[in-house]
Amino acid sequence: MNIGIDVDGTLADMMPGTLQVLENETGINVRLEDYTSWTYLQDTYNFDSAEVLGFMDEAWLQGLVTLLEPGIQVPLHAIHKRDSTITIITQRTRPSHWIMTKWLLDNGIPYDALVFSTGLNKMDYPIDVLIDDSPFQADVMDRYPDKVLYSLAQTWNVPKIPAKNVVYIKSVTEALGIIERGAR
Ligand SMILES: [Mg+2]
Repeated sequence: MNIGIDVDGTLADMMPGTLQVLENETGINVRLEDYTSWTYLQDTYNFDSAEVLGFMDEAWLQGLVTLLEPGIQVPLHAIHKRDSTITIITQRTRPSHWIMTKWLLDNGIPYDALVFSTGLNKMDYPIDVLIDDSPFQADVMDRYPDKVLYSLAQTWNVPKIPAKNVVYIKSVTEALGIIERGAR
């Protein structure tokens, strides 16, 4: 089993830091519970995507990113030790590549490959399943009938019309449990 896992919003809790950077740099205060859309800052405050990505890079560079699920290393190591490979697939932008890589190491996240993806859909990489918080990933899953998306619930990612290869989950731990039970 080749397991793909996203970083931002899936392994990493980077919204509190991003909103802190936003407030420090612009004075705009956004509460996490208001962040109900992937493009909330663009839609509400007319930032362009590059500016929003810049706030996210700054959150990483200022060390404001924590594990979304403390202790997630334990089930990740357990599944990795059996017979799964783990591919970290992220669209993290270049200024924070180095610190995100260090973060994975410092947090003891096991993986076999690290992909900084641009252009390709994450499902195009050689993975069997993907754990991701993107609200858009579910939309393309009919193109990948042999693969499964574990779509992580976030304020910006609420369940849509179910597809047969999309499983909405409340945590990465939950997804790993389902994958393990299926693999036995
Ligand atoms: Mg993400």
